[in-house]
Amino acid sequence: MDHRYDYVVLGSGIAGLTFALNVAGKGSVAVITKKNRAESNTNYAQGGIACVTSDEDTFDLHVRDTLEAGAGLCREEVVRGIVEEGPARVSELIELGMSFCERENGTGHELDLGKEGGHSKRRILHAKDITGREIEKALLAALARHPNVAIFENHAAIDLITRRKLGFTTENRCVGVYVLDVAAGRVEIVAAGHVLLATGGCGKVYLYTTNPDIATGDGVAMAYRAGVPVANMEFIQFHPTCLFHPGAKSFLISEAVRGEGGVLRNAAGQTFMDGVHPLKSLAPRDIVARAIDREIKRSGQPCVYLDITHQSREFLQQRFPAIYSKCLECGIDMATQPIPVVPAAHYQCGGVVTTPQGRTSLPGLWAVGEVACTGLHGANRLASNSLLEALVVAHRAALAVQKEPKPSRQDDIPEWESGPAQDADELVVIYHNWREIRQLMWDYVGIVRTTKRLQRAASRLHSLGAEVQEYYWNYKMTVDLVELRNLVLIASLIVDCALSRHESRGLHYTLDYPKPNLSRPPRDTILQG
Ligand SMILES: Cc1cc2nc3c(=O)[nH]c(=O)nc-3n(C[C@H](O)[C@H](O)[C@H](O)COP(=O)(O)OP(=O)(O)OC[C@H]3O[C@@H](n4cnc5c(N)ncnc54)[C@H](O)[C@@H]3O)c2cc1C
Repeated sequence: MDHRYDYVVLGSGIAGLTFALNVAGKGSVAVITKKNRAESNTNYAQGGIACVTSDEDTFDLHVRDTLEAGAGLCREEVVRGIVEEGPARVSELIELGMSFCERENGTGHELDLGKEGGHSKRRILHAKDITGREIEKALLAALARHPNVAIFENHAAIDLITRRKLGFTTENRCVGVYVLDVAAGRVEIVAAGHVLLATGGCGKVYLYTTNPDIATGDGVAMAYRAGVPVANMEFIQFHPTCLFHPGAKSFLISEAVRGEGGVLRNAAGQTFMDGVHPLKSLAPRDIVARAIDREIKRSGQPCVYLDITHQSREFLQQRFPAIYSKCLECGIDMATQPIPVVPAAHYQCGGVVTTPQGRTSLPGLWAVGEVACTGLHGANRLASNSLLEALVVAHRAALAVQKEPKPSRQDDIPEWESGPAQDADELVVIYHNWREIRQLMWDYVGIVRTTKRLQRAASRLHSLGAEVQEYYWNYKMTVDLVELRNLVLIASLIVDCALSRHESRGLHYTLDYPKPNLSRPPRDTILQG
């Protein structure tokens, strides 16, 4: 691995790959990614990208829907900018080879637009229910044509290297990153003019999640340790409908199923969303997730059901091929049977504080995608706005980074030092702590919170943090250890943000303050290490 690049991109989801593509002509680029290059939250996105493309839709409506979901914490100018730039960025994606589903309209073809919770119009561009996989494929194929870009799979970023950490007192700047080569078990120094965090979200901090294993909040943890502000981590979106089946690890039943008329029912077959929200089963996700949580607790049943049996088998096979076959694999015929579902942690609305161009407070460090908090989502993300945000902000960051003066080289970066011990018996500590964090976050910091439960979580996380810290510096570096250290920090950031919000707003719902605080303007919760 060459150790010096103009641009180092951490993560190969939509944010990292879009940025890499847009800087590839301007300098050397390394894309560092924890597993194989396609493995990312992006790869599992089903519903699609929210974007105004139809004559029946307007930017104003998309802005209004986003602000409404965000419950007073969106930054309107950021929302408008991203919504209005969407069509241009989506067109570029199509030029790269991405193809979205179309349908006949009598005179020819038009985009087949899906509808999801909280959207007042059909505006979701999709590739059946495998939109994310197709986006990854298109971006990776385009990137493969660039000789300037090297992709390093199975390499995990551990920590950012800053001038302050190196002991300098003037001009703090991010100058690179320590990276674990997982196969070799070696930590390398990668020096860079600019580092982009595109490491995605943190669903794995919860016991039940729709996210794949890579989603351990590494980017937020690294930024926080480097002293960069992090905001609004209490706003974790729980997707209301994750397939409830022992054989289906983290499999999402897309909101688009409800967009096509799917109705939520309890075990007795009764609908329970009618009195909850005017949009019923298509209400915003937080409202649906809380209603399901309530229904599960009330009935004592382990799940509720999503019923789309009014649609024909042909339609379901055509529109939702991945969901249809996954359900069949689990013995559920969605054309004739309701699908058992439960809520699961899905999306991190907060993150590393950035400008709408992806710039963080630390010169040389940028953050884009789920890792970042631009002000688009506020207290609750509107469905399918995340792929849009990643696409738009990655493009902007790539333009902005090229206007920066060329940074001077940092030559004197010390080697990483880690402990020599590797006692197989002790590995049990890592797995035990992993499980404990995820279980306690699910039990104490889930969909419905209380101050007492949050305090209990805080106290346990405090001791877990100390234990992990001691272990971390004594033992040889492994990816599990890197992730465990990050997970315990992420869990603490979520709890601290939640404890300091004395109100219920958007995705943060606490029985101790069940209403929004209307006595002052809504505020972000900001933490800085
Ligand atoms: C099941 C599912 C369905 C979804 N459906 C939709 C949808 O329909 N529409 C929508 O808008 N959004 C959807 N989302 C959310 C959306 O997919 C994500 O928010 C978005 O893809 C995030 O993109 P990203 O590039 O920021 O991060 P990701 O796509 O998650 O990529 C993160 C990358 O960082 C790498 N990485 C992480 N840590 C490290 C490290 N320490 N070192 C090196 N590399 C690292 C990972 O390996 C990965 O390559 C869905 C999410 C899930 C899980």
